[in-house]
Amino acid sequence: MKVLLANEYGFCFGVERAVDMVEESLSLGETVRTLGPLIHNEQEMDRLGSKGVSTISEPVQITRGETAVIRAHGVTPQVQKELEEKASKVVDATCPFVTKVQRLASRAAAKDQHVVVVGNPDHPEMIGVYGYAPEHTFIVNSAEEVANLPKLNKPLVVSQTTIKLQSFLDAAEAVKAKTDDEVQVVNTICSATRDRQDAARALAGEVDAFYIIGGRHSSNSRKLVAVCKEKCEKSFLIETEDEIDPADLEGVNVVGVTAGASTPEWLIKKVVAYLENIN
Ligand code: SF4
Repeated sequence: MKVLLANEYGFCFGVERAVDMVEESLSLGETVRTLGPLIHNEQEMDRLGSKGVSTISEPVQITRGETAVIRAHGVTPQVQKELEEKASKVVDATCPFVTKVQRLASRAAAKDQHVVVVGNPDHPEMIGVYGYAPEHTFIVNSAEEVANLPKLNKPLVVSQTTIKLQSFLDAAEAVKAKTDDEVQVVNTICSATRDRQDAARALAGEVDAFYIIGGRHSSNSRKLVAVCKEKCEKSFLIETEDEIDPADLEGVNVVGVTAGASTPEWLIKKVVAYLENIN
């Protein structure tokens, strides 16, 4: 079987960096506990678990002698402080793209600007950002929600790193009606998700079947399936090679492969090797 990989696939920069930081702590013999699951991939979490990494849900669960890891989504300054008080060491794996949003919010608040963040208020990244400027920040899901905001002072508009560009632009435009001041707009969307979708779309027209490797609950992986299906009806979401049904490959000569941003390289390699060995 001929297997073609999409030009962009798998771990994004921030997730790869977070996993590398955990590996570094393990190599130093530290007892590593991550606040929330490090990534949304069961197989990778099992691999890290077998090396002693465990997950906690509250800072209070950390004890002296342990290393606490802040995952790529980041946390509020308050949570970071709690971790620093309890753990022997804190590894801050907040993705630099998320740190940028946190800093922008914090600096704007210091200048008494209002901050409008376009994103999902329940997402951990947004909860963290909010914590940097709680008195000045509003989180809105859409342009429609901007209508509910009070009058804004010199507003700064930024975005959750993973939202759609159009939602951000529409919300930023709507903010203009809420202020007499100039609106400062900084697009803080990370291109990782879009790059993977563009690469999958480009490959989908050239293959007979497409396998998207990712967690069943990973929203970016499910979105990749939808994108592939636009041009390749036989597009399947799988977590491992065990889920490949040979019946789906009848009459198939060329297979495309991509993977969500939380799928590790070792898992992708196993799937590719399996497919290449099919005659
Ligand atoms: S998706 Fe982008 S912002 Fe989020 S962790 Fe990955 S690189 Fe960082």
